[in-house]
This record gives sequence, structure tokens and C-alpha cells, in this order.
Amino acid sequence: MKTRSEDYDVVVIGAGPAGSLAARKAAADCEVLLIEKRQEIGSPVRCAEGVPLIETPFVFHTSFEKYVEPDSKWIASEVKGVRANAPDGTRVEVSGEMLGTEKPLGLILERKLFDRQLAKDAARAGAQVMVRTRATGLILEDGRIRGVKLNQLGENFEVRAKVVIGADGVESQVGRWGGINTTLKLNDIESCAQYHMQNVELEENTLDFYFGSQAPSGYAWAFPKGNGAGNIGLGVLGSKLNGKRPLDYLNKFVATHFPDGKPVELVMGGSPVSDALPTVVGNGLMLIGDAARHTEPITGGGIMAALQSGTIAGGVASKAVRQNDASARVLREYETEWKHSFGKARRRMYKVKEFVISLSDDEIDKLIRAFAGITAEELNLKGAMRRLLRLDPRLLLRIRQLL
Ligand SMILES: Cc1cc2nc3c(=O)[nH]c(=O)nc-3n(C[C@H](O)[C@H](O)[C@H](O)COP(=O)(O)OP(=O)(O)OC[C@H]3O[C@@H](n4cnc5c(N)ncnc54)[C@H](O)[C@@H]3O)c2cc1C
Repeated sequence: MKTRSEDYDVVVIGAGPAGSLAARKAAADCEVLLIEKRQEIGSPVRCAEGVPLIETPFVFHTSFEKYVEPDSKWIASEVKGVRANAPDGTRVEVSGEMLGTEKPLGLILERKLFDRQLAKDAARAGAQVMVRTRATGLILEDGRIRGVKLNQLGENFEVRAKVVIGADGVESQVGRWGGINTTLKLNDIESCAQYHMQNVELEENTLDFYFGSQAPSGYAWAFPKGNGAGNIGLGVLGSKLNGKRPLDYLNKFVATHFPDGKPVELVMGGSPVSDALPTVVGNGLMLIGDAARHTEPITGGGIMAALQSGTIAGGVASKAVRQNDASARVLREYETEWKHSFGKARRRMYKVKEFVISLSDDEIDKLIRAFAGITAEELNLKGAMRRLLRLDPRLLLRIRQLL
């Protein structure tokens, strides 16, 4: 074990999925330090814990298994169906069976165990992990980042590094310290509240999404975790809170849909649903995961983007260390790669999000009703277009403009 203030090749700030994957990848041939401000990696969980296993038009990333091998130790349940619930109660369901796959559509994780496992994997690959250690600033010399200022249990110290990776989540400060503007407009952040509840009647292995003004310009979700437990939460667009807290919307939603549910945990947090930042790279610096605002703009889901951007950034960091050049010019390879992997799809999804947040309850009802009773044979572009033709012409025109 190294002493606390030794130099490293790479320092990763934040041990969420993005940071741990970056640390694991870079540790293959670099001296890596992964720091986490909390005492326990993965807790508290600020997540509904759903990840996709199949690629759909709403999932722009490659498969989860490419980054992490599923392990029953941190899987709460498998997802076999997904339902969209309209404000008027219309429900549309798509199942794996309809898509012609026996494979689960996704997983519900136990993130407390999952995040901890990823950090352990990074440690196994050789990374040093420091918990209860908070980054408080960057060491800047001659316009370059030379390391990180840290505080552990009230004591300040510094570590020097060739590359710093900011994986400090939605409330990221690392970008700002390094001169990258990561500010989110109110229209580009979902404010979320979620209960983990017991005594909730949920359809096993099925994710439920509820749209409409019960979660203005966002949605509510109910994800089953087995044995009468589940994650019940919602996100409201920052600009549509109307003076209320997300928790106020959640309490109303729960009273309507899950009156017998007993909350055993409450989490609150934000999810970026913004367009891509102009850059997430500086001299000696890369931002990844939520810190880079990489979440999917429609769903606010960010685990897949965290795994993907973390892996790419970890590889580019170790290449820069080997070349002894961590200038923005070299690190930009990370930017090129993530844009190549999911930049274009993300841009398209941002446009769709802008459309979705503009819909009234009446329009959402019409849209979901148009797909009511959809069959396996219609689950293709032609089938979807036929059903969309049943919509009122103005709504159809707005959808066509997106395509
Ligand atoms: C209510 C809610 C529900 C969600 N549901 C889903 C879902 O079902 N599926 C999905 O894919 N996504 C979901 N998300 C989004 C998902 O949780 C994030 O996209 C994901 O966790 C991003 O991973 P990350 O590693 O970038 O950041 P994080 O997981 O946020 O990790 C960042 C880490 O950095 C640490 N840190 C922060 N600042 C410092 C510092 N100064 N020094 C040291 N450490 C620091 C934090 O403690 C934290 O551990 C949800 C989000 C919310 C709020």
C-alpha cells in the first residue's frame, strides 16, 4: 500500500460506476488512485437501479455485459416486460416474448452491492481506493492540472497525478475547478425523489412508467425488487416544479397508486437530461458519467453511459501516461470515442426529450392509446408508423419533424 501523499499516474475522483470502471481499466498498466468521499461505496443509493440488457431505440449504448459480467449477488430481479401508463389509465406493455427474445430485457440491480463490487474489481486490478476522502480542488500549474487537493477526516493533503478523471456525479465540481462549464439549466435536469417501499403490489419482473402531470415533464416509475418491495419514484423537470418539491409530487403519486406501501428508504437527487457539453476534456483532465452529463436525455438513466464513458476514459488515460503526454490534444481521443459510440444517438434523444416535455396530458393519452394492444408483429417501424397515423394530424406532424 502506498503512503497517502505519493504520486500517481491517474487519480479518479468518485467511486460510482463511472469512476470504478475508469480506475479498473487504467490500473491495468498505471498507478491509479480512486477516491470516494463517502465512507461506504454505493450507499446511499440514488437510483431506481434498472439497466437494459437489450438494445432498443431508447437505449443507445452497447450491452451491459460488455462492461460487467452479471452476478446474482447484485441482481435483485430480471426485467421481462415494460409498461407505459397514460394519465387516463391506458396501459401499453412490451414484453421480451413480443420482441422474440427469451433473454431478460434488463436487470434491477442492488446498487449498494454492485457499486461496491465495481470498486473491488478496480482494487483487484491494482488501483488504490481511498474512502472518506473528498477532493476539494485541483493543483493547477502553468495552465495544466498536476494533481488533486484532498481532505481525509478533516486533514488536508495533496496527491500529484498526470491525469485526473472527474467521476463525481451529477453535483460534479471537478469540471468547474478545471475550467469546464458543467452548469445545467433548469430545463435540463430532472429533480427526483424515490422511496424504497415494502407492501407494494407490483407486477413481478415488469417495469412500470407513468407519464403526465403527476410528474410534470418527467415520469414516475415503479420497479419491483421482489418480496413485495420496490423502488417507487419520480422525476420532475427542474423548470416545472411549480414551487413544490419532488417529494410532494411523490407523496401524491404514492397515495394514488400505492396507498398500502410502507417507505423504508427515501432518496433525492438530480438526473441531467441535457444536450452534450461542448467539451468534457482539458489539459490533464477528463469528465465521465454524470459529471460529463452523459445520461440518456429521455429516461435520465446513466448507469450504462457511466460504464461506457468510464471504460473509454480509463483506456485513454493509460495511453496518455504511456506517451507521457496528457495534454487536452491527446485526451481528446476520449471525446472522439464517446461521441462515436453514443454521441449521435444521444443528440437524437435530446430532441425527442424536448418534444416529450412539451406534451399535455391529453396528448400523452392520445399517444399511448395509439399503441394500446400493440402486437408482436407490429413492433417494427412500419407497424409503429401505421399506429401513429391514427393520431390527430397536428401531433403526427410534430412527431414527423423529429424523424
Ligand atoms: C432517483 C434516481 C433514479 C435513477 N434511476 C436510474 C436507473 O434506474 N437506471 C439508470 O441507469 N440510471 C438511473 N439514475 C442515474 C444513475 O444513478 C446515475 O446516472 C449513475 O449513478 C451515474 O454514475 P456516476 O459514476 O457517473 O456517478 P455517481 O454514481 O453519482 O457516483 C459519483 C461518486 O462520486 C462521489 N463524489 C462526489 N464528489 C466527490 C468529491 N468531491 N470527492 C470524492 N468523491 C466524490 C460520490 O459520493 C459518488 O459516490 C437515477 C438517478 C436518480 C437520481
